[in-house]
Amino acid sequence: MRHIPTALRRLVHERAGGACEYCLYPESMAFTAHEIDHIVAQKHGGETTEDNLALSCVLCNKYKGSDVASFDPETRELVAIFHPRRQRWRDHFQIAGSAVAGLTPGARATVRLLQLNHPSRLAERAILIAAGLISVPAS
Ligand SMILES: [Zn+2]
Repeated sequence: MRHIPTALRRLVHERAGGACEYCLYPESMAFTAHEIDHIVAQKHGGETTEDNLALSCVLCNKYKGSDVASFDPETRELVAIFHPRRQRWRDHFQIAGSAVAGLTPGARATVRLLQLNHPSRLAERAILIAAGLISVPAS
């Protein structure tokens, strides 16, 4: 992975409000620092520019890897996964109880690919929601 300049890292952190841009997990509550995700991986031609970077928790980044597409579990169609720079979280997902519900084919594929509703993640999210530490971004 190419070096990401400090100023660009800072911009990505600040823009995300310190929360994972996929699952909304606040970095302040994580055991390990969130990572800078190349939304389109470098091996697919993605560049290290602010419009291709997102803040990601370790788990989301691990499950996403270099993927840019997956299958919608409802239709089985191949679809692009959620793109945090081109799409707004609130237009594609909602919090339902402690689960993340995908509202669009790409969001549903993202929920599954990133395992956003793995039982351990649901348990953690329930605690964070109860503590008022998960908030859906306005933009
Ligand atoms: Zn995450």
